[in-house]
Amino acid sequence: MNIGILGAGLIGRLTALQLSNDHQVTLFDADDEQATQSAAYLAAAMLAPIAESVETSHTLMQMGQRSQLLWPQLLAQLNAPVFFQQAGSLILAFEQDSGNLQDFARHLKGIEGEDFMRIDSTRLAELEPELAAQSKPFKHLLYLPHEGQLDNRQLLKALQSTLQARGVTWHAQTPAEIRDGQVWANGQLHAFDRIIDCRGLGGKTQIPSPSRLRGVRGEVLRLYAPEVILNRPVRLMHPRYPIYIAPKENHHFVVGATQIESEDSREPTVRSALELLSACFSVHKGFAEAEILQIASGLRPALGDNEPKIWVNNKVIQINGLFRHGYLLAPVMVEQCVALVNGKTDDLPQYPNLIETL
Ligand SMILES: Cc1cc2nc3c(=O)[nH]c(=O)nc-3n(C[C@H](O)[C@H](O)[C@H](O)COP(=O)(O)OP(=O)(O)OC[C@H]3O[C@@H](n4cnc5c(N)ncnc54)[C@H](O)[C@@H]3O)c2cc1C
Repeated sequence: MNIGILGAGLIGRLTALQLSNDHQVTLFDADDEQATQSAAYLAAAMLAPIAESVETSHTLMQMGQRSQLLWPQLLAQLNAPVFFQQAGSLILAFEQDSGNLQDFARHLKGIEGEDFMRIDSTRLAELEPELAAQSKPFKHLLYLPHEGQLDNRQLLKALQSTLQARGVTWHAQTPAEIRDGQVWANGQLHAFDRIIDCRGLGGKTQIPSPSRLRGVRGEVLRLYAPEVILNRPVRLMHPRYPIYIAPKENHHFVVGATQIESEDSREPTVRSALELLSACFSVHKGFAEAEILQIASGLRPALGDNEPKIWVNNKVIQINGLFRHGYLLAPVMVEQCVALVNGKTDDLPQYPNLIETL
């Protein structure tokens, strides 16, 4: 089949990867090939089905758990290595926020003892020796042993080079929309056997009603901290929202993220920067000398219930509403989309309310 994909962010690139195994694929993206304006580029790319289950449905947690299994198969197809780990994550609270941690633990949907466990300072010293050695040691701790993360910018780059090596046609800096079952771009209509719309917030005006897509603002920091060693992502309970510190390779850290119900696309505010930076410094004093490589803001594409959706309308498939779970859920979303294109959905897990046929 001849397939047109609108949006070469996270979902568009991964869908192109899977479909280009058997089909001819053309990508249209409003941005350049690096997709620096996309949510995908900004994200921390934590794969945290259990931690996120505090605010998600049981179904979404199961989709995240399945995605964890599928990620290695996707990464194995790429022509460049991408940092990916499943070393778990830690949730920490200072004494004054210990109530928030208890509350968080009560709302986790996984199985206690298997998906999450309360740990003491001796176990912390084994997992994260530098955190255990801080002057203000943590007494309130949860360990989620199966959580993962990857390097999103390495992933986007590796996907670009793999897709181009496979001969996928890539129209960069080419805004596109769907008109009469065809793709409208560069001032003309392009006909395809199937069209997949993965434009994130850029697809807002073409979301089937009554659904409504909105942007949820997030601010995030990238730091280089040679004096800090963390082996896994750490979330710190905070009165307004949990703040995470996700260690990438070579002492690089992504720290985020605020979650603000607004489509305000201004640069990050002083208040948010202060909150994120003070959280880092309170967790590990080695962040005092860290270099601030980037401080940026972006919008997460979200539907009313903050859960994603796939709409099927004849030959057009729309995938959107990945909110703060794009990396967590991408492999399952792409698996479902590819099965719809190939007409082979019978063998796949079914998720209530995920797919809507119009
Ligand atoms: C601060 C922050 C932190 C995050 N952290 C995490 C995390 O730790 N874990 C996690 O799982 N998720 C996280 N996310 C969420 C994740 O980034 C998103 O859910 C995911 O990127 C959504 O993927 P998408 O492909 O739908 O949209 P995007 O990645 O935004 O891609 C959309 C693409 O469509 C293109 N486009 C837009 N309009 C048009 C048009 N008219 N024509 C052609 N192309 C167009 C854009 O240029 C872009 O390349 C985070 C998001 C933010 C903002």
